[in-house]
Amino acid sequence: MSNKGVDFYVKAGQRAMQWHKENIARMKKCNFDTIAVHGIYSMQEALDFNQGSIIEPIYMSTSQTYRDSDEMEAALSYKIPTFCYSRIANPSMYYYEGVLALLESYKTGVDASCIATASGMAAIQSAVDPFLVVDPKKPNAPMNFVATTQVYGGTYQQFSMRKEAEHKVEWRKVINSNNIDEWAALIDENTRFLYGELPSNPSQSFFDIAKVAELAHKHNIPLIIDSTVATPALLRPLEFGADIVVQSVTKSLFSSGFGIAGAIIARKNIHSNIDNDAMKEDFCTYLKLLPNRDNGPNISPMNAVLALNDIRTIRSRIDLVSRSTMKIAKFLENHKHIEGVDYLGLESHPLHELAKKYMFLVDSELDDIYNQKVNRYGHLMSFRIKGSAQNTRDVFDGFQRIWRATDLGRIKSVATIPAISTHQQQGEEGRKLAGIPHNLIRLCVGGEHPDDIIADIDQALSALDGKKYAISFPEYSAGGASSATLK
Ligand SMILES: *Cc1c(COP(=O)(O)O)cnc(C)c1O
Repeated sequence: MSNKGVDFYVKAGQRAMQWHKENIARMKKCNFDTIAVHGIYSMQEALDFNQGSIIEPIYMSTSQTYRDSDEMEAALSYKIPTFCYSRIANPSMYYYEGVLALLESYKTGVDASCIATASGMAAIQSAVDPFLVVDPKKPNAPMNFVATTQVYGGTYQQFSMRKEAEHKVEWRKVINSNNIDEWAALIDENTRFLYGELPSNPSQSFFDIAKVAELAHKHNIPLIIDSTVATPALLRPLEFGADIVVQSVTKSLFSSGFGIAGAIIARKNIHSNIDNDAMKEDFCTYLKLLPNRDNGPNISPMNAVLALNDIRTIRSRIDLVSRSTMKIAKFLENHKHIEGVDYLGLESHPLHELAKKYMFLVDSELDDIYNQKVNRYGHLMSFRIKGSAQNTRDVFDGFQRIWRATDLGRIKSVATIPAISTHQQQGEEGRKLAGIPHNLIRLCVGGEHPDDIIADIDQALSALDGKKYAISFPEYSAGGASSATLK
């Protein structure tokens, strides 16, 4: 057998890369729904490599075989694209990353790349760790990062326990994220990144992404946004200057609830005061080839393709659940047993006007029902029950249609009491910072008819008919997290 030489494979690899680049460029010209449905999987690829399969195949394979030692050498020195080993790359994962990069950068004018992770928490860890490295010029300088306190419970634990307690990296906490001066006052030369979640889970806080991004860039540090609740169907933070977006794909994107999945999507040439050009040029590719190769927080090919199947319908689903949530929020706002409702879509929410500037159903102006830009605020809301924590449990225990689960973004409505579940471990002080009182129920509205969900909540609330409201929770009242912490 004649030896083809590494160079032969490098040239073939370049042709393949060119083809993929052109394929992605063709998809980029499509509208959001078309990208969501087809992703980067084309008919040509199906016919040439995948027996014509019209759905992206699930490559349940750990590794790729090579024609000869030259191809192996070219692949393992990263000179050609390769699916060498599924901890690093796999075709099913490749399709998943391709579609998320396109959706998160849709109409933003930004060139983005994506890396898949096994979970949202792995995405957050992978996104922040490359910045929490020792600066060789100042090896003993303490590191810090600035992040909102109104974050997902798991994020709160990762930041406070894993980063701060175990690794002595200071978390400088932004209490009222809508106050830009508060962010600014916390930054110094040892700050490595700014981090925020919006709309936050469950407290619905929100901030001006463009202003915070501008502040970050003034200090040459990146802004990282957890955009799980909005999904790219409602908001694409890269458009407003964010450098990196993390997604718990597990939630609305993967709404059937078949598995856990995460992703990081980053623009090219991010801001950072760390001296690492490869990381700054293409953050996700850097993660894929180096840190995540070494740490191994990768997605399973099965979960990648199951998630793809749900991602195809994200826009119409988010429209549906947003409209239903609005209807349910309005019903609850006027209910006698309800102390308050937190939903960014309600005019009564203190951050409604700000959210209105940012949250739109993508491509609604192309939709023959809407023909214009329409605001949508997603599926996540919370409401506070009048009276004691026991009253709240009584109502919660009475749900017959709404599932009691610490989950969100499902096609089925689910509810939880965050103080005793998702936000239990952070303790009373941490819950106060995050704005999570004991009488708060988080509801994530699914695809059911909203009237059936309203009927379920109404019958559950009737458990309080005739009861005295013993205690209320003044320290958290009115406007939930946002206004509790605005004080
Ligand atoms: C669930 C969630 C996460 C964590 O994602 P997992 O996929 O469960 O690891 C992070 N951020 C937000 C906003 C979430 O809701």
